[in-house]
Amino acid sequence: MSDFTSYDEFKKSAEKSGYFINDDKEFVQALLDSINVNMDRYGYGACPCRLASGDKKKDLDIICPCNYRDTDLNDYGSCFCGLYVSEKVLKGEKSLGSIPDRRLSTLKSQKSSDNCGGELGLGKLKVPIYRCLVCGYLCGREQPPGKCPICKAESERFEQIL
Ligand code: SF4
Repeated sequence: MSDFTSYDEFKKSAEKSGYFINDDKEFVQALLDSINVNMDRYGYGACPCRLASGDKKKDLDIICPCNYRDTDLNDYGSCFCGLYVSEKVLKGEKSLGSIPDRRLSTLKSQKSSDNCGGELGLGKLKVPIYRCLVCGYLCGREQPPGKCPICKAESERFEQIL
């Protein structure tokens, strides 16, 4: 994101990919404006609700849409900022509560599992397997794709899982 400067344009693009946007236009527009400010400030569209470091490599997980969006949508009906919402929330069938920042617990658990690699015994694959950290798309190839064919995330949002 976020080359989108208008609510309508952003909503249309999100819906094409199967996502729903908060129907509070003013609120969404403020978030989009903040993402664009981050684009200008850092050169990438960092999440408007989190503190960016200014180092893109360190902040890859919080470039909008962040790595936590889909899980938060499933668990809470909204992303951390409330930009994306589930269909149930949009239809008023589910109300929103507070959403913990999943990034904090993810960073903690990453630290404790840093030494666990190499135990899977899957060294016989002919090509590495890459996973898109945004939407979970998997592919087996020498390098990650330039853009995720599903969610259009850049190649740097892929992690090699095998
Ligand atoms: S929490 Fe929402 S607004 Fe923030 S980066 Fe994730 S998807 Fe974007």
